[in-house]
Amino acid sequence: MDFAVPADLQAYLDELDAFIAAEIKPLEDADDNIRFFDHRREHARTDWDNQGLPRHEWEQLLKQATRKADAAGHWRFSAPKKYGGKDGSNLWMAVIREHFAAKGLGLHNDLQNEHSIVGNFPFVEMFEQFGTSEEQKQEFILGGFEGKRRTAFGLTEPDHGSDATHMETRAVRETRDGVEGWLINGEKMWTTGMHVATHCATFCRTSGDDGDAKGITCLLVPNPSPGLVIEEYLWTFNMPTDHPRVSFTDVWVPDSARLGPVDGGLSIAQSFVHQNRIRQAASSLGAAVYCIEESVRYARERKPFGEALAKNQAIQFPLVELATLPLRPRQIAHEEHDSAGRDGIDEARERDVLTAWLQRAHHQHQDGQQQRAEQAVVPPQGPRQAGRERDQGGQADQTVAVHGHDRRRNGHPDDAAHAALQRAGKYGAEVRLENHHDDQRHPVRARQLGHGDE
Ligand SMILES: Cc1cc2nc3c(=O)[nH]c(=O)nc-3n(C[C@H](O)[C@H](O)[C@H](O)COP(=O)(O)OP(=O)(O)OC[C@H]3O[C@@H](n4cnc5c(N)ncnc54)[C@H](O)[C@@H]3O)c2cc1C
Repeated sequence: MDFAVPADLQAYLDELDAFIAAEIKPLEDADDNIRFFDHRREHARTDWDNQGLPRHEWEQLLKQATRKADAAGHWRFSAPKKYGGKDGSNLWMAVIREHFAAKGLGLHNDLQNEHSIVGNFPFVEMFEQFGTSEEQKQEFILGGFEGKRRTAFGLTEPDHGSDATHMETRAVRETRDGVEGWLINGEKMWTTGMHVATHCATFCRTSGDDGDAKGITCLLVPNPSPGLVIEEYLWTFNMPTDHPRVSFTDVWVPDSARLGPVDGGLSIAQSFVHQNRIRQAASSLGAAVYCIEESVRYARERKPFGEALAKNQAIQFPLVELATLPLRPRQIAHEEHDSAGRDGIDEARERDVLTAWLQRAHHQHQDGQQQRAEQAVVPPQGPRQAGRERDQGGQADQTVAVHGHDRRRNGHPDDAAHAALQRAGKYGAEVRLENHHDDQRHPVRARQLGHGDE
């Protein structure tokens, strides 16, 4: 059986790798830019005296990398062709994300802020599908690529995350100077990117009761706007931060600022998390694979008592067990793909590719990990481990443990581990929001995601 990814996808991964080697690595190596990735990275990236925001030079470097990627035709890969993209599918994006994250941190891909030379643009699909006018689509999609528009996603609130439909932010109709519009009051939290956002897609309850799927409306609030205040930036354990708490006090926007139908905004929020979560899951998976690979490498190199760490079953067993866990998110991705595929993509073909991806992972585990851990006796792997409930963050934790004192150095896995931990937490929560409606339509997926157990 052929476990390789299809030739066209593999060829594109090779093309991306060649591009990284030719254009991105030299930039990463120039002008001591490696300070943004090595042991100095937290300081290099964080403007401590400006609320912990990303330093200007860090964001400029990322921009330089994405401009190069755009010129080479990679950055907009997932966007429709009419916006300069390649109509890249969610499946290909997932494989690319895993591939990039498995390389470790770098200017090609940085999980801390989801920078990637193959960009993540959930808003493109949102505006394409829900834009209320052609002008709005042009303004926000093309404007987004040109850097004139940057939209933050304002769903989560201080007291409502997974239970987003219980949001307290309200918008009521108000006409000003003969223009129909909305008056917004409430608070949002973790509204990533507000320091550079031109707009905040603000989800507000406009009718119905707490918890109702209907009755939520998405309003594009310009930043700045009278009454919109960035109250504080939330310092995270992987700095810098660009995640503020934002308050809205009598903020007024015209009805033309509405994205999607009145009371039908939850589908828009779901579009965002639906696209994001499969990519974040794939990235977390790649980061976890990176951690495992690094730990296997270290276990083979490090020789306390004169023998490789990898000779010890106490080191072997957890690593071999961990190596089975990437199967689970791949299965999720397989199921997710059903509803995440872009219209017009050959679904049957995508399913074949995802199946091959899954099988490849299985194959790698079955045949590869025993040799990699250099052990003769390995417990039988399979459903017991693959079915175990453990997230990517847990993998990161365990692989870091293999490194002993080395994890206190500028340890390799820590970077990926932090990123994996952050993404794993966010991913799990977003899954819950997404399944608000979907448990009936996708019972298998809901069960795989743990919903059947709740
Ligand atoms: C780095 C970062 C960036 C973010 N960016 C944005 C953004 O740009 N825009 C935005 O709107 N939000 C953003 N978020 C918010 C994110 O979407 C929320 O953190 C997420 O929805 C979870 O909400 P919460 O943190 O309030 O967790 P809670 O809802 O309080 O849940 C706490 C924990 O309990 C679990 N849990 C909750 N309910 C159940 C249940 N019924 N059964 C079992 N377990 C449950 C959750 O999975 C979670 O682990 C960001 C968060 C982070 C960390």
